[in-house]
Amino acid sequence: MGEYFKVFQLAENVYHIYEPGGVGSSLIVGRRQAMLIDTGYGFADISAVVRKITDLPLRVVNTHGHTDHAGGNRFFNKVWMNPADKATYKDYQKHQKPLVAALFESKRKAAGKGPIWPEDFDRMAWYEAGTKEFCWLINGQTFDLDAPEERCNQTFDFEEASEENHLIEAIFMPGHTVGSVMFFDWKNHILFPGDDLDYSLWMQFDTSAPLYTYKKRLQQLEQYPIEAILPSHKKQLLSTWILKRMPEAIEHLSLEKSRRFFHPRTGQPGWLYKEPLNGESPDGQDTIYITYQINNM
Ligand SMILES: [Zn+2]
Repeated sequence: MGEYFKVFQLAENVYHIYEPGGVGSSLIVGRRQAMLIDTGYGFADISAVVRKITDLPLRVVNTHGHTDHAGGNRFFNKVWMNPADKATYKDYQKHQKPLVAALFESKRKAAGKGPIWPEDFDRMAWYEAGTKEFCWLINGQTFDLDAPEERCNQTFDFEEASEENHLIEAIFMPGHTVGSVMFFDWKNHILFPGDDLDYSLWMQFDTSAPLYTYKKRLQQLEQYPIEAILPSHKKQLLSTWILKRMPEAIEHLSLEKSRRFFHPRTGQPGWLYKEPLNGESPDGQDTIYITYQINNM
């Protein structure tokens, strides 16, 4: 069996740490600090992988509170998150974790495979362990990875920014969850949207934002010089095409063109809309999938 985590280097100082559950956490290494965006399921110690890549002071942030993004928070002393995702985080921590584990077990069994987690995985410790300390993000807050840690708690200032800074901006983007945050790397011009922008967009949760509010806010990203997008569940950078195309897909969506959809873990009913792309996508994807609730448009 190979390494549990697979590390993909996607830019000079950007790494995507991918795990067998099908999710990646992103590491950006600046001159004086590094930032880890999400912590994965937490089945294995992701901090050990990070420490193989860099020994700089580490800032850990969550794009949202789902277990595949915040389950590994337990390996760090302090994690930054949008306070609007507290309820989502708590629900996943208390109620969803056993379901997450059970779904992996049944899927792997059906496929004739062994457990998804490594041999030394302590299930009870995983259920019980939460986040040692949360710090709360502010919309528009920036972190300068080229500066010493004390200087990093500031609001983005276009005048002050220069090539000397390696600024990462937290952009609050209620969508997949109400507390979803995208992170924009002003040096590499990469957007890290978590689950809030991808060819599959899951908006059917009780804690998702209204679909059209999300669409409107998404269009505000046009002011950012984005050159590439790295969603959590992809292994490579996407073009910016999906950013323009997603609002159109939401516009095309209707109940007549959707079908009933049940969340594979919770069984929660919702609707699924599929937008065929007919070879349009430069990322080689053939469909946009959107799950949603009709009472949360
Ligand atoms: Zn999610």
